[in-house]
Amino acid sequence: YKVPVPKNEPVNSYAPGTPERASLQAKLKELRSQEVDVPMYIGAEEVRTGKTHPLNPPHDHQHKLGQFHEGDASHVDQAIKAALAAKQEWADLHWQQRAAVFLKAADLIAGPYRDKINAATMLGQSKNAYQAEIDSACELADFLRFNVKYMTEIYEEQPYSPDGIWNRMEYRPLEGFVFALTPFNFTAIAGNLPSSAALMGNTVVWKPAYSQIYSANVVMEIFREAGVPDGVINLIYVDGPTVGKKVFTHPDFAGIHFTGSTAVFQTIWKTIGENIETYKSYPRIVGETGGKDFILAHKTADAKQVATAITRGAFEYQGQKCSAASRVYVANNIWDDVKKNLLADIKDIKMGGPEDFDNFFNAVIDRKAFDKIKGYIDHAKESNVAEVIAGGECDDSKGYFIQPTVIVTKDPQYVTMQEEIFGPVVTIYVYEAENFDETLTLVDETSPYALTGAIFSNDRYIIEKATKRLSQAAGNFYVNDKPTGAVVNQNPFGGARKSGTNDKAGSKLNLLRWCSARMVKETF
Ligand code: GLU
Repeated sequence: YKVPVPKNEPVNSYAPGTPERASLQAKLKELRSQEVDVPMYIGAEEVRTGKTHPLNPPHDHQHKLGQFHEGDASHVDQAIKAALAAKQEWADLHWQQRAAVFLKAADLIAGPYRDKINAATMLGQSKNAYQAEIDSACELADFLRFNVKYMTEIYEEQPYSPDGIWNRMEYRPLEGFVFALTPFNFTAIAGNLPSSAALMGNTVVWKPAYSQIYSANVVMEIFREAGVPDGVINLIYVDGPTVGKKVFTHPDFAGIHFTGSTAVFQTIWKTIGENIETYKSYPRIVGETGGKDFILAHKTADAKQVATAITRGAFEYQGQKCSAASRVYVANNIWDDVKKNLLADIKDIKMGGPEDFDNFFNAVIDRKAFDKIKGYIDHAKESNVAEVIAGGECDDSKGYFIQPTVIVTKDPQYVTMQEEIFGPVVTIYVYEAENFDETLTLVDETSPYALTGAIFSNDRYIIEKATKRLSQAAGNFYVNDKPTGAVVNQNPFGGARKSGTNDKAGSKLNLLRWCSARMVKETF
């Protein structure tokens, strides 16, 4: 079964003067100057309902990139039907044929479609060129290629067979259809959630976040060109409650592959529980949800390194990563130094649309996010236990712009130390250097999440102590590095507690959830 081990897709820098930069800029111009009419894809049909909504860049909300067609309950029915109709033939296809389809998709992404998928992510989700590159080009290509490797590793795992007996495991797809519910913040995640299940022989109904539809449409274009057959992945734009009512009451609902908010995931889980008698099998529930990710800086940490980790961990992609550093604990002996470096880093950050490659910092995704994030900043401005020491300005006149914002609090339980904001806001608590052990407890117990976290220290005993004490506080734990930027096959990604089911995207563990093994024992 062995397939060659893929390599991570090399990352383009888009540095000034490079041909890659010129080519991506030309693609941005081209996409900005046209309007796309985005249909749903159900079975062999492109469905245009006429109920359209505009697609606007978050950094330039009066500009129209096109429109998408919204569906209703009947389209959910059709999508489920199409998935079930395509199922047998797709599941019966030799695994190499399924693999070939997604390996081709990866090559299209890394090659001829690279500019288009990056430009679509930059315009539709307000990402800078580098953030788009590591997401929609590299990570998505990596997911598609490495998932093939994981699939073959799974198929290879066979039980022991004594003489005269042949025991074998068949890794069948789940019985029924899989539902993929995907987020706005990573085009790679949006592409991975339906395709990983499909690779294992499942057929899928895919509903992306409305704010990611512009690039989801490009992902679907690539899947179709790569040869994903009709009905294997059905892409629909229907509001959440309507989809939920249909999908979670269907007897053939076999599993959900989800990334999104904790609240939505909990509602889904409850709904599945309420309908459990309806289903043929117990559905797989795989979800990556929220985070309140920490950086803990010990008194032995390098202040400059800590400041850089805060700037990058908290503010890349405007903090809209589940993994973003959003609560920081700094020992008081290094705080002045950390602060000086952090404020200097932030002063250099340029904000604006991603079409200008000098802008490290772009807009947040939409009005709802803008209002929510602004609410937390306003709260801090008025609080007597918190102080905004950088940023704090919000301007939605052209786009949803919020400055990179640093709050310092005297109260380690202050609301912005606990709740997920999903925006460019980081809160810092300065602790007495001698109270490190108490601070470890604070880190562990302040938030219900457990996605990512980082310890900064130069002391091996401290690194060991923090790694052990915080063993359940983060599914991805970083030593002297920012807590974001997991790479497929290098840093399998996911967390437990209220952060999800920890089924590690970018590893074999995730693919295992999309099959249901049958054991066959034959006696000779
Ligand atoms: N895998 C991403 C990272 O390590 C985060 C994914 C997410 O935000 O859901 O930064």
